[in-house]
Amino acid sequence: MTRDVNDAWVECACGARHWGRQGAAGLALADEGALVLQHRSARSHHGGTWGLPGGAVQHGESSLAAALREAQEETSLPPSAARPHATIVLDHGTWRYTTVLAHASVPRPRVRPVDWESDDVAWVAQEEIAERELLPAFADAWPTIRRLLQARPLLVVDAANVVGSVPDGWWRDRAGAATRLLASIRSASRGGFPAAWFALEGAVLAWPRIVVVLEGAARGACEPATDDTAPTHRPAFRTPQVLRAERDGDTAVADLLGGLPPLEREHAALVTADRGLRARTAGTRHLGPGTFRSALRTLEG
Ligand SMILES: [Zn+2]
Repeated sequence: MTRDVNDAWVECACGARHWGRQGAAGLALADEGALVLQHRSARSHHGGTWGLPGGAVQHGESSLAAALREAQEETSLPPSAARPHATIVLDHGTWRYTTVLAHASVPRPRVRPVDWESDDVAWVAQEEIAERELLPAFADAWPTIRRLLQARPLLVVDAANVVGSVPDGWWRDRAGAATRLLASIRSASRGGFPAAWFALEGAVLAWPRIVVVLEGAARGACEPATDDTAPTHRPAFRTPQVLRAERDGDTAVADLLGGLPPLEREHAALVTADRGLRARTAGTRHLGPGTFRSALRTLEG
């Protein structure tokens, strides 16, 4: 296990002691109605209870990276076995705990206890979780985690409208402009988007399924490479999907949104400023290209 100056107790404003000077993070990895839980060893804080693998965030590390590193140290799970879904943050001001929710990228990846902190780690059926003796903080968070794991956030991007929102000469090379937008979305999406865009109540960040709709000459854009051959130390990020409209882009977007299953429709967001398309997709959350572009810049930077 790696040691760091942040592996230390914090006397918190709430009156309790918490682990991790820069806060802590844990991983809630789900697959087929089960979750990976850690049976905490008697020597650890709240020994004997079941909770999520996790630990102190280290210097310069994101909460996502910390949760995946700790999960690997405690359960041998490679980061590539997790597809990030959303984060929940418990913020005490002086200390914060981030739960990273993720879905398994392969069926039930194997887990086993690998350090002194765990007596056991196992896939536990979600119906059985509430019956176990749980770490109190995890027991509090579990209903929210369970609800959020069901949600299917979706981001649909009207590429023509986003590309057209800045007069940078895109009309000279529509396919090139769309290729740049796709690359930018792919790279920014790894950092996660604001969960509020998708009405994911209780979450801070979300990693949605992304569909970028291209029309006309922009349909010649190059698709971002898939992450199929990504190294095992990196999470399994979703590659944005590209939908090349057969007719006009607006019809493709409206058809896509109209055909979604309820769990996805409820958490869909469409990026467009086009009034006609907004009217055709009433009932869906809409984001302006300015908001979207500024989020891309922040996330890429
Ligand atoms: Zn506290």
